Amino acid sequence: MLVKTILNNIEKFKSFVYGKIYWERVGGENSLIVDLLARRNSRGECAVCGKNCPTYDTQPSRNYEYVPLWGIKVYFRYSPRRVRCKNDGIHVERLPWAEGKERTTKSYQSFLARWAKRLSWKETANAFRTSWESVYRAVKWVVDYGA
Ligand SMILES: [Zn+2]
Repeated sequence: MLVKTILNNIEKFKSFVYGKIYWERVGGENSLIVDLLARRNSRGECAVCGKNCPTYDTQPSRNYEYVPLWGIKVYFRYSPRRVRCKNDGIHVERLPWAEGKERTTKSYQSFLARWAKRLSWKETANAFRTSWESVYRAVKWVVDYGA
């Protein structure tokens, strides 16, 4: 089974599709990069009002850390569009997998927060080789949004 098939089963986004999946060294570590692409002819969502708006421009790609697979770090990679909203002006589009400027996906934040109930935040960070700050933000996000 392909990783893409697994992702399409567990984490499918209406307006985005998975592209290539490949190895790349990130922070000195072999990681799986999962390209995400906006569906053709789709419009980005205004981050303020949630309306679909025309694209203003496209920003350089960013990595969003996903739940590790077999201990391998996994990142979604996407080039966010800036959209021009009639009411709210130009903003980076709202993405279904990450909140605002956050570089950790919601799925991984939920995962970390669940472990942080059983372990200390430091132990959780060590177990998944992430930072204490990432665990802190994950717990905060889950508490704030009840995810
Ligand atoms: Zn708007």
